Amino acid sequence: ALTEKLTRLVKEMRGQARITEANVQDMLREVRMALLEADVALPVVRDFIARVKEKALGQEVLGSLKPGQALVGIVNKELAATMGKGVADINLAAQPPAVILMAGLQGAGKTTTTAKLAKHLIEKRRKKVLTVSGDVYRPAAIEQLKTVTHQAGAEWFPSSPDQKPRDIATAALDYARKHYFDVLLVDTAGRLAIDEVLMQEIQDLHAVLKPVETLFVVDAMQGQDAVNTARAFKEALPLTGIVLTKLDGDSRGGAALSVRQVTGAPIKFAGISEKIDGLEVFDAERHAGRILGMGDIVALVEQVSAGVDMEAAQKLAAKVKSGDGFDLNDFLGQLQQMKQMGGLSSLMDKLPTELTAKAGQVDMDRAERDIRRKEGIICSMTPQERRKPELIKATRKKRIAAGAGVQVQEVNRLLKEFEQMQGMMKKMKGGGLMKLMKRMGG
Ligand code: GDP
Ligand code: MG
Repeated sequence: ALTEKLTRLVKEMRGQARITEANVQDMLREVRMALLEADVALPVVRDFIARVKEKALGQEVLGSLKPGQALVGIVNKELAATMGKGVADINLAAQPPAVILMAGLQGAGKTTTTAKLAKHLIEKRRKKVLTVSGDVYRPAAIEQLKTVTHQAGAEWFPSSPDQKPRDIATAALDYARKHYFDVLLVDTAGRLAIDEVLMQEIQDLHAVLKPVETLFVVDAMQGQDAVNTARAFKEALPLTGIVLTKLDGDSRGGAALSVRQVTGAPIKFAGISEKIDGLEVFDAERHAGRILGMGDIVALVEQVSAGVDMEAAQKLAAKVKSGDGFDLNDFLGQLQQMKQMGGLSSLMDKLPTELTAKAGQVDMDRAERDIRRKEGIICSMTPQERRKPELIKATRKKRIAAGAGVQVQEVNRLLKEFEQMQGMMKKMKGGGLMKLMKRMGG
């Protein structure tokens, strides 16, 4: 994507004696677009471009044989630097129990992340972990924490909606001390929007708990709005770290840059699934590539074009172009092509970085078995269902699952994956796909 656009720009410049400031401006415009597409907040983009421009106008780009690549290199480095290089693990340097306070809007993923962190600390750092919920507005939220805490193998301290959050905090702290817990994780209430009562309450909690870590949990899909939320929390609390959740969605994760810039706090973890083990130590460099949309599907297809069934691919291109949409038949076709291309392992190094990271942990034989199971599921659908996946509700799911000999959850997973692929196809509609097809033909 971005690399290509820059390469094209540079090609257009052929014939000119050398790269000029104006050319760099053109390239920066593409970078700007890529950042905005990734939902980085506008003021953050402006700042960022100004910094990159300063560097880009130096010898590094102007004197380079491949100015496009040189600029991408600078942008990538600057992005990673802005998001914080290296890894920032959780800080537990405190008289035990080390308290970790979770802050963020409702739905950001605080409760889920609390349990994920508990599991991380138990398994990776061998800690004895207690959790407690200060979310007294929603009884269900306290129960939710209890459930996920037990899944994580940690201990849960009871609280109830008729208590004051600060009393809960004091009691939990006391219990944790008496029972020699290493870490106390405090989940808190959120609001759909920032409000003063919430902020005051969490400030009180902070004063009582004196946490060694105050983590701001933010949904990566939040986009432009993430900046305002981050600013409000930063003003209320001395944030020590950020957890970016829902990075498994199809957002390009521009919020990482915005939130990091506004709070100055390091991004420590990324949530990559709703499951309890869906937490990763944040990797700034890899994330920079995602924001810029590099290592994308175009590169993948280029690599494996030899093995692709051209006719099927062209049909698919025509379909997307004519607006017929991408259905489960096409998805099935893709799965079958993947098999044709001689094993998944050969594709690995061309997958987008964020996918490779996940795929790195996958065993290839299992992945291929997985493809066969998916084929089985789609084959158990009627032609009508394949054309109109939205028809597939509970009863049909059960029938399909039975037909394919799998659990209903697996059908759900496949449908979700299909939706993601469909989303990607929609994004490519604006010419990306045709370009891709041309490359495959030539
Ligand atoms: P809270 O209101 O901040 O406590 O948010 P919750 O922890 O209850 O999470 C809200 C929703 O987001 C739940 O449905 C979670 O399963 C989901 N969720 C949280 N983190 C992630 C993540 O990293 N990936 C995905 N896919 N879902 C997540
Ligand atoms: Mg919650």
